[in-house]
Amino acid sequence: MIPVKGFAAERVGAPLEPYAFQRRDPGDYDVLIDIQYCGICHTDIHQVTNGWGGSVYPMVPGHEITGTVSKVGPKVTRYKIGDKVGVGCFVDSCRTCEPCKNGLEQFCSGGMVATYNGVERDGHTRTQGGYSNKIVVDENYVLRIPANLHLDRTSPLLCAGITLYSPLVHWRAGPGKKVGIIGLGGLGHIGVKIAHALGSEVTVFSHSRAKEIDATRMGADRFYATSEQGTLENLKGYFDLLINTVSSPTDLNSYLEMLALDGTMVLVGIPETEVPLGAFSLIGGRRSLAGSLIGGIKETQEMLDFCGKHNIECDVEVIPIQKVNEAYQRIIKSDVRYRFVIDSKSI
Ligand code: NAP
Ligand code: ZN
Ligand code: ZN
Repeated sequence: MIPVKGFAAERVGAPLEPYAFQRRDPGDYDVLIDIQYCGICHTDIHQVTNGWGGSVYPMVPGHEITGTVSKVGPKVTRYKIGDKVGVGCFVDSCRTCEPCKNGLEQFCSGGMVATYNGVERDGHTRTQGGYSNKIVVDENYVLRIPANLHLDRTSPLLCAGITLYSPLVHWRAGPGKKVGIIGLGGLGHIGVKIAHALGSEVTVFSHSRAKEIDATRMGADRFYATSEQGTLENLKGYFDLLINTVSSPTDLNSYLEMLALDGTMVLVGIPETEVPLGAFSLIGGRRSLAGSLIGGIKETQEMLDFCGKHNIECDVEVIPIQKVNEAYQRIIKSDVRYRFVIDSKSI
């Protein structure tokens, strides 16, 4: 077994504290990764606080992992020592169901093996995430980081990046399409960059004007503060695609009214409580309300290569792990520009 240092929540809502644990020795198809950076996703906060239910402790969060390969199993063919790699939200899946065979492992009918707060396919080993210094992952669930991208500014792509790329591509964002991104946090800011690179007209909805200059720099064509009266009403029927990244409940009906005929709003933010939905918000313009969950391995690699090609990196604030609890408080207040990334050297 490999001794690993990490930070864990020992019980629901507990602050993250140093935690020593072990990972398996690399098997035939495994790679051992020396973690260099791990982004802090809002999901980590929902999970540590058991906001969605189902959390198991002690929990080492973290699923936006980048680092370098330091050892490979004897049958590994895709990676070698020294390669720049990443790991996202899952580390395994059944590999035999239709979604797995179609590269949609996130919808594995047996359930994907989440990078943390999950259980390995042996049915009992608990997974622990990237707020740690090493991880062992099957090569088929490891991503390659393009040579021109930096590991700190790339780590949030492993969750935030693919979570926005997948619906933008699925619902055909591109030239001539009016795309609105709701919430300019970790997910939202990378969504602006990707939607812009895809050639769409991009509008940002944020709760104040504080992030307007940043949004423009990221590629937004228009910016609206939802706290200003009449904002949503004035945009009725305008958008082809809205992506809602907000982590708290939002007024879905008002946002849906901004969709043009046949427009779609995709929910990617996951509030902890349910939100009301009126049928009139949908039927008027034959509108759709949809959801999307991260992306499969093939598409995640495609997203990383796309970001490499377009030089897209995240706006990050790199912190030592000792500041993680403070960072959580700032994320809850939407006071992050635009992703905290843990420097694993500090662990
Ligand atoms: P984040 O960095 O905290 O960003 C969320 C943004 O939502 C904030 O920056 C803020 O933007 C806005 N917001 C937050 N509270 C709000 C409120 N009460 N009213 C209005 N706006 C509010 O979080 P994130 O990491 O991007 O994650 C966002 C959500 O997506 C979380 O629920 C997370 O669990 C979920 N998620 C889903 C997937 C998936 O696969 N579907 C993957 C990853 C994460 P402004 O300051 O611009 O208003
Ligand atoms: Zn995430
Ligand atoms: Zn499967």
